[in-house]
Amino acid sequence: MPVRASASAPDNAPVITGAMPLPLGRGGRHEAAMSADQNLTRLRSDLRAWLAANAPQGWRAAAQSHAEFAASQRAWFLALVAAGYAIPHWPAKWPGGGRSLAAQKVIYEELAAADTPRLLLSFVSTYHAAATLMECGGAAQQARYLPAILTGETWCQGFSEPGAGSDLASLKCRAVREGDHYIVTGQKVWSTMAQYADKCLLLVRTSSDGVKQAGITFLLMDMKAPGVTVRPIHQIQGDEEFCEIFLDDVAVPVADRIGEEGAGWAVAQATLASERGLTLMELSYRMRGAGHRIAALIRDNGLAGDAGIIRDFGAIMTRVDATCALADRFLENRMAGIEAVGDASLVKLSYSRMLRDFSLLGLRVGGMGEQYRAPIVFGDLNTGNWMADFMNSYAWTIAGGSDEVQRGIIAERMLGMPREPKGWAA
Ligand SMILES: Cc1cc2nc3c(=O)[nH]c(=O)nc-3n(C[C@H](O)[C@H](O)[C@H](O)COP(=O)(O)OP(=O)(O)OC[C@H]3O[C@@H](n4cnc5c(N)ncnc54)[C@H](O)[C@@H]3O)c2cc1C
Repeated sequence: MPVRASASAPDNAPVITGAMPLPLGRGGRHEAAMSADQNLTRLRSDLRAWLAANAPQGWRAAAQSHAEFAASQRAWFLALVAAGYAIPHWPAKWPGGGRSLAAQKVIYEELAAADTPRLLLSFVSTYHAAATLMECGGAAQQARYLPAILTGETWCQGFSEPGAGSDLASLKCRAVREGDHYIVTGQKVWSTMAQYADKCLLLVRTSSDGVKQAGITFLLMDMKAPGVTVRPIHQIQGDEEFCEIFLDDVAVPVADRIGEEGAGWAVAQATLASERGLTLMELSYRMRGAGHRIAALIRDNGLAGDAGIIRDFGAIMTRVDATCALADRFLENRMAGIEAVGDASLVKLSYSRMLRDFSLLGLRVGGMGEQYRAPIVFGDLNTGNWMADFMNSYAWTIAGGSDEVQRGIIAERMLGMPREPKGWAA
């Protein structure tokens, strides 16, 4: 487990992980652990009190349009920033930053338990953009972009293309250097919340020589620049969570390149590694929290005496619990520095399968009529409109690495099974 630098350190003190000699006397380890626990308990009760007064109410029904949804997301994010709960994973010099992973877990648990809106609009900004800038950005880039995130500037991620998803390194969007600018031409797709984004984390190809990873460069693009066209993708359940982005001779200053030209693949690894585990824990907890809706449907629809339904409900909720436990254990292993290859894939796969089965049970219990009663809710996975939730659950079998890719990682890297022969076809 992480050990705090000082037994009396506040919750947001830096955490020292790993097998280090402890500068503590007899019983010091125990006292430090007690103190850490007390800090977490205090954080939990403070946050609960704050949420009791400030958590948005009735937000699912309130946002009738996507624009209203985006506005409510902005307002909730800024409220969390002001209260010091929006960026617990940022360094301590930022408001509410410098918290241990254990403290971050407490915050996400409480946000989920209070059924607050998930921070979809600001997710790429506070995780992907922030980590990229902090780990790989220059001082001027950090000074320009990081504070702006906390005042509401939002980012999207322009990595995937029509021919480059799981095999991201195949991307073709081209950037040619002309003086102090890159001129970018191409297309991106599935870019979450790009219709509201001010900036974009953009992967482009600056060279086709050598291995495909070597010709990739990482740019920070202004979404309002001439030549950028954003087209929201209308999803089957009524949401417009992501977009296509078309780039026609867009000029991006060389000053907005992160890392060297051709070193974008390594920078992208920092972007993608920025969030590991907390989201899946939060989402698993939110799914468990939504279990009461299925229970209410069972009662309301007169199914409480249906042994088959009750059996399936019990089985599903047990598996939801198991998914939460897997996510918990993954985070605990991460905190202890003993995360193993493939652990993240197990959690991701467990969540994506579970979400589908959970929403399918809701659909079965609620019947087709439910979709006409419950409103469409934007940016939410457990809306109570079971038809919409079921259809949307497929997105999670793809986002963040598809189920098949996760199974490949588990089989080949975790279980040591033979790699699939190249060029194999059924
Ligand atoms: C909700 C959501 C949000 C997203 N947000 C963003 C975003 O903000 N920015 C962004 O850049 N992208 C985003 N994406 C895109 C996402 O990263 C890609 O959809 C994902 O990488 C898969 O790529 P693809 O859609 O091109 O499918 P493909 O990679 O073409 O896969 C097609 C099928 O082939 C299978 N497959 C592919 N490779 C293998 C393999 N090696 N072994 C076995 N099977 C394989 C897949 O499992 C899948 O069934 C988002 C996607 C979703 C669903």
